[in-house]
Amino acid sequence: MAPFGLCARLRSSAATSCTQDYFNSIALGICRQISTGTSDTFRHTDIEKRLTSPSHSSVDLESVRFGQTFTDHLLTVEHAEGHGWGRPQIRPFAEGFTIHPASTVLHYGMCCFEGMKAYLGVDGRGRLFRPDMNMQRLHRSSRRLHLADYDPGELLECLKELLRVERQWLPEREGYSLYIRPYMFSSSHSIGISRPTRSTIAVILSPVGPYFATGLTPIKLFLDERNVRAWPGGVGDCKVGSNYAPTILPQTTAQQLHGTPQVLYTMPSKDSSDADAALISESGAMNVFFLLDKEDGSGQQLITPPLDGTILPGVTRDSVLQLARHWWDCDVLEAHITVGALKRAAAEGRLREIFGCGTACIVQPIDGLVRADGQVLAAPFDASSITSMTARMTRALTDIQYARVPSDWSVPFDDAKIQDKELAGAEPCHDAVMGL
Ligand SMILES: *Cc1c(COP(=O)(O)O)cnc(C)c1O
Repeated sequence: MAPFGLCARLRSSAATSCTQDYFNSIALGICRQISTGTSDTFRHTDIEKRLTSPSHSSVDLESVRFGQTFTDHLLTVEHAEGHGWGRPQIRPFAEGFTIHPASTVLHYGMCCFEGMKAYLGVDGRGRLFRPDMNMQRLHRSSRRLHLADYDPGELLECLKELLRVERQWLPEREGYSLYIRPYMFSSSHSIGISRPTRSTIAVILSPVGPYFATGLTPIKLFLDERNVRAWPGGVGDCKVGSNYAPTILPQTTAQQLHGTPQVLYTMPSKDSSDADAALISESGAMNVFFLLDKEDGSGQQLITPPLDGTILPGVTRDSVLQLARHWWDCDVLEAHITVGALKRAAAEGRLREIFGCGTACIVQPIDGLVRADGQVLAAPFDASSITSMTARMTRALTDIQYARVPSDWSVPFDDAKIQDKELAGAEPCHDAVMGL
């Protein structure tokens, strides 16, 4: 089966070298070699700071709603053709910024973004999770939009400096963190659909708790067999704004009709009359994993769709794959999964677990996929089981993120060791699931 003929063509095109890296599962670093041919970058050593007095002394976590509270400062850096990069600025968030009414981001959606989190480790240090991967991915997305080039390593250092400035916003409670939203857009002002000549990078911070109000309790996803999120030859593997705007209507409609908070997208097969031949893709902002008993009864397999260009290469996805491969107790596959295969597995009781993963939710148990006709492909989730893949994976990732387990993946951004301070409060979702 070769449902991605277009992808195969792209693969041989030199013009899409960065996309190609993902097809070949080559390390992210290569993209940078290819596209950072410029010495023109901003530098973290040039940061200018204009600070306001903090608006609070401690974060009121009870009132924090996902993505709606922002810290006191933001980072911005601007590029204009002919002038190059300006100096990175850390300045009051309340100042905002003005953009020209003709900025092409406003009409043509020329923007891309990242989602990361800073965690307060049990050692009292602020920590990032594999931040180099986010920086490389933003760089790759921005290259795809032909925005100004820069050194992603410099952006990471600027971001760390912003985090040090906003250190008091780092929530001291497990399950909570400081969400980091770096983004970049074209501030070129023109009606023409043309190469951006002005680019802006900004980083904003927002203290957050668990992504879904329900925490680590399972949700159902609507299996959308009509709307397509990404397609072969498209930009589904880039975090560009234009991939997200069209997902709101399907998601809202699914919520209204089926009560599902998120949509799981599919890719129709060439024979569109065969709904069961459609391929599972991913959710609006989560990659998805399935744990299945193998048909021949010889154990289990953990499967997620492959990085064929239509799937966003999640940092969490990659981490789940690496951990599962390391554990070595089931087959771990990046492979296409059809709706029909899932339907069969569910009917035969072989569909053991489904979970979504991404920076926002980390791991989200999913106990069923709802089809338009109301049919549910169920994967019952046992919240009391500490041996489920979902629970083990959650534990393993959060152990690294909060530095309970040492790992190169957890990167400290400060030295401040807060003495005699334990993480306050119970973890809202995790402990319940783990039965600790
Ligand atoms: C951001 C995102 C993910 C998750 O990626 P992480 O790097 O794990 O946060 C998954 N799918 C889509 C479509 C996304 O935009």
